[in-house]
Amino acid sequence: VLKARNLAKAFGSNKVLRDIDIDIRRGQVVALIGPSGSGKTTVLRSLNGLEVPDGGTVTFGGTGTNGDTSGGLSIDFGSKVGKKDIAALRDRSAMVFQHYNLFPHMTVLKNIIEGPVQVQKRPKAEAIAEAERLLERVGLADKRDAYPFELSGGQQQRVGIVRALALKPQLLLFDEPTSALDPELVGDVLGVIKELAEEGWTMVIVTHELAFAQHVADEVIFMDGGVVVERGPAAEVLRAPRQERTKLFVKRLQ
Ligand code: ATP
Repeated sequence: VLKARNLAKAFGSNKVLRDIDIDIRRGQVVALIGPSGSGKTTVLRSLNGLEVPDGGTVTFGGTGTNGDTSGGLSIDFGSKVGKKDIAALRDRSAMVFQHYNLFPHMTVLKNIIEGPVQVQKRPKAEAIAEAERLLERVGLADKRDAYPFELSGGQQQRVGIVRALALKPQLLLFDEPTSALDPELVGDVLGVIKELAEEGWTMVIVTHELAFAQHVADEVIFMDGGVVVERGPAAEVLRAPRQERTKLFVKRLQ
């Protein structure tokens, strides 16, 4: 689905990404782990154009999880990147944020249909039907007309996930989806993510929950200091890492 090569990004003199390569195959679930400040969030944001890297390429394949048959997409950040390129990149993936980022002045339903209707120009009735189906699925059908402030963190995050799914992206990106939640609410959200994995969605999940990563991810990428230190099957990287830096990180968290 996705191939990223030599992604580089600096904020002033702070080199946050140093030639990052990432490959994601269709249906694969990849957990991105690493210490705070290692660049994980910046990688996710770069993959969907919320951040524009200083260099490198991102290539998406032609067909997606939902049978999308639109053509492939290749963007070279080393040359001039226009608004159209960024819009095309954004259309490929959808992000679930740590702090949900729901629009506070919109109902749950409006939050979900905003992207499909306003950006993707889909018929409103179709978008509403799809939103209702997805809300039902995550147990929130009765919250359709509620506002975000009326929901618990776990409910808001499930709406955040539904909002991402409603865009029918090729790739789902999760940025520490449970780290802002009270411990008793984490399970529900992880449960939904696990179901999506079983359904075959392609996902990249930035997480500090190593037990969950081992449970749900096919592969784990360990980043430190803006580079990929180690990558491999989840059980190998988390239980028998090869690199010293990975060993230290994994040991501290288990
Ligand atoms: P965490 O686990 O704490 O979220 P992370 O691995 O996701 O960390 P990033 O959020 O990608 O790391 O940040 C990497 C570095 O980039 C940090 O040093 C951060 O301060 C810096 N950084 C991120 N975004 C910006 C920005 N918009 N402007 C300046 N510096 C930034």
